[in-house]
This record gives sequence, structure tokens and C-alpha cells, in this order.
Amino acid sequence: EGITVQELANRMAEKGADLVKALFKMGMPVTVNQTIDQDTAELLVEEFGHRIQRVSDADVEIDTGADVDADETLKPRAPVVTIMGHVDHGKTSLLDALRGTDVVAGEAGGITQHIGAYQIKAKGGEIITFLDTPGHEAFTEMRARGANVTDIVVLVVAANDGLMPQTIEAINHTKAAGVPMIVAINKIDLDTANPQRVRERLLEHEVMVEEMGGEVQDVEVSALKKIGLDTLIEKILLQAELLELKANPDRTAEGRVIEAQLDKGRGAVATILVGRGTLKVGDIFVVGEQSGKVRAMVNDKGQNIKEAGPSMPVEVLGLSGVPMAGDQLSVVENEARAREVAAYRAEQATKKRTTSAPTSFEHMFSALNTTQIEYPIVVKGDVQGSVEAIVSSLNRISTDEIKVRVLHSGVGAITESDVTLAAASRAPLIGFNVRPNAKARQLAERDKVSLRYYDVIYDLLEEVKGEMAGQLAPER
Ligand code: GDP
Repeated sequence: EGITVQELANRMAEKGADLVKALFKMGMPVTVNQTIDQDTAELLVEEFGHRIQRVSDADVEIDTGADVDADETLKPRAPVVTIMGHVDHGKTSLLDALRGTDVVAGEAGGITQHIGAYQIKAKGGEIITFLDTPGHEAFTEMRARGANVTDIVVLVVAANDGLMPQTIEAINHTKAAGVPMIVAINKIDLDTANPQRVRERLLEHEVMVEEMGGEVQDVEVSALKKIGLDTLIEKILLQAELLELKANPDRTAEGRVIEAQLDKGRGAVATILVGRGTLKVGDIFVVGEQSGKVRAMVNDKGQNIKEAGPSMPVEVLGLSGVPMAGDQLSVVENEARAREVAAYRAEQATKKRTTSAPTSFEHMFSALNTTQIEYPIVVKGDVQGSVEAIVSSLNRISTDEIKVRVLHSGVGAITESDVTLAAASRAPLIGFNVRPNAKARQLAERDKVSLRYYDVIYDLLEEVKGEMAGQLAPER
């Protein structure tokens, strides 16, 4: 039982070529059309930071998004933009200012609703969708759940403050996602603004803006004084044009949960960003472990609408319960089917939470109590310097509630003894630029040790941090 590289790529919404590259690095030269086995597939899925979700054949049919729409069915769709940057650099202000440029806001007469995303119509009639939860945490969390909804990132850098830690994090997250970036140099109304310095500092992080002879578009703005907003919008549209974003609007809808909550009076509501197809009132759907029937839809202007096409965010009423951000919504043929799939997923999720095999980070804490959580980990790396850097960084990300405990660290390939140690402590085993030898790999498979490979320390830390945070979050 296997899967072709291309199909796996489709399911993860990653590029086939990237999977081939990763496989090559793991010592498996294959093409996108070749079939790989289940274990290799799982390894890849984890390597790309996705969750493994074993599904029944019936479920796969609707869950994968693997079926590709024929070229002739595709129509242009609006770009989806996320704004990132350091705290206080003006993300929220910029989102508000951009929202204010909407040419239909006045005439529509609706009242602005914060549903987690909004659309504006530019002067030329083009539509842009903005996710209005700024910051890279949400972005990365969505991505970790396999929801790559962002087409373009706008990186906000305050011209008076320059590059700060979260700016650099945002750059790295954006690069990791392979999403094009536009730099908005904000607060240029201030006397202390030094946009040129920002451009120079960006070079140090391999972001070369146009003014420095590079490819990354940059624009000077003031969210406060509303300077440069039209230029920013033009640049977003230009970038979108290059991306040739398209989707098939004439099919059953699929979308992603942007945010969801239990609303007094209205019950469970979720903002869905439609990916493809057209979501209609009356549609029956499954979303994560929930199901439902679209009772009503409300857009970002507070208006009731009957239909929502690709790239459109809508608040959907009529859910059986509250799904999670990043969950996929799929329209299905009937209610029985919706309930069946939702129940199946819930069952799988419960199994996953209670299973004893430490197949992933997620399982590790389920058996532990909340008082003093320890996060055990084994680290192997190619050189002493990076191993030391990783260990000291890991120690620093401990918090009051959860503490990283490096069980073992060392230089060299991952050996059987490393695997045994990790298995015994139910710890993940991390290889930084190193791989297991054949015996160690077999042992790891048998004992279901979570093997993780990295070549960027930052990625390693972010993933561990994410897993730690995830374990502390209250169980739904
Ligand atoms: P966020 O934390 O990135 O969302 O930043 P905010 O949008 O909350 O802005 C942080 C502070 O910077 C607020 O006091 C804003 O009024 C201010 N601010 C935002 N944009 C500008 C700007 O273009 N010029 C000036 N002078 N201040 C700004």
C-alpha cells in the first residue's frame, strides 16, 4: 500500500518538487510519479510539518483535496494576504487603513464586521482578501495544520525602529512557507524614520528589495497618515498577477476555517475562507470533526449573502459544534454522509489522544499530569557547535509549565542506542544534518520513535515550541 509522491504533495498542498528534494536528502532518489510506502510518506508528512491523519478510504475521497480541477474550469481569484511584523510596528493600524480604502465600503451601507478576514475592492475593481489576524503565530499554526491559505505576506517594518526579533521571525516563517513577500516600511511620517536603514538591514537576512537591486517589492507607508496605501495595493495586485491565482468556482465548495467560536444566540459559527467551488446556503458540509448545513452566511460587511466563491471569507451559521482554525470544510452530498465522516474523524482523534504508542509529539503528554510537565528530547547533530547551540536554545525555551529536558546530545549519525533511549523515554529524536543508520531506522520504525530531521536550527526550535504550546492548550 503506497502513494505517489505527487498525490502526497497534493494532499499536503506542497510542491511535488519539494517532496522529491526532501526524499533525495533522505537518500531516496525518486520521481513525482513513483510510489512510496506508508512509513516514508509519514516521515515526509512530518518533515513538512503537517499532521498525520489516518483516514478511511471513504474519508480520503473528500478530505484530500487531491482531485485537481481541469485547467479550463479555473477562473482568476483574489489574492489572500497576511500581514506580519514586529509588535507595535503597525500591523493592526495598516489593516484598518487598508480596510478604509475599500471603494464599496461607503455605498454598501453595511457595518464592518470582524470575522477574521475582509475583502476590499481596489480602484480598478480588483478584489483583495486580507486575513485580519496579524502575526506569524496564526500563520504558522495554520500552516502546521496543512492550511496554506496565504498567497502573499506583507511584512511591516517600522522605519524608526528597524528590524526587530519578530521581524526576523516573520521573514523566516514566510521563507519557510515559500510565500512571496512585500515589505511595507511603515511610520515614514516620523522624523526619526530611516527607511534606507531598513532596506540595508533586510539584506543581512537575504531579503533584497527592489531599491537595492533585488526582487522583493517594497513600499514606504504611513498607516497613521494614510500615505502610500494605494502604492501598497498596486504592489499586492502586481504580485498577485505574477502568481496567476486561479480556482474553479463551479464545483462543490472547499474552504478553511479562519476562526470559530460559540456565539450566544447564534450557536457555533465559523469564518470560512472558500478555497474553491462556491459555498451556498443550504449546503451540507463536514468541517474538521463537525458537520452542519449552511443556515446563513454573513460577509465582512455584516450582510447576509447566499453564495461565497473562491477567496471569499464568510461567517457560516449552522454548525454542529466549534471546529478549529485551519480545519478544512468540504461540502458533501447528504447529511448522513456528513455525520458519518465527522463521527469517523472524531473517533480517530480520540484514538489518537488515548493511544499508547509514542508515534508523535502529540502523544507524549497525554498520559502525563498537568503539574510538572517535562519535555524529553534526544539531539544528534553533525558538528559540536550546532549541537551546543541547539541544546542551549532548547533549554531557554522552557517555561514555568513545561520544561525541556535534553536526554542526550551528541555528534554523529543517529544510532541504535539513541533510538533505544528515545523509545524508552517516549522522546522525539532529532537529527540536525544527520540521519539514522539502517539499523537505527529499523529500530525506530519498530518502536515508533518520532524521528525528525532539520537543517535550520530556527525551524527545529519553532516546531518544538509549537508542540509544547499545543500540549498546554486545553483539550477541546
Ligand atoms: P501592531 O502591534 O503591529 O498591530 O501595531 P499597531 O497597529 O497597534 O500600532 C502600534 C502603534 O504605532 C500605535 O500607537 C499606532 O498608532 C502607531 N502607528 C501605527 N502606524 C503608524 C504610522 O504610520 N505612523 C505613526 N507615527 N504611528 C503609527
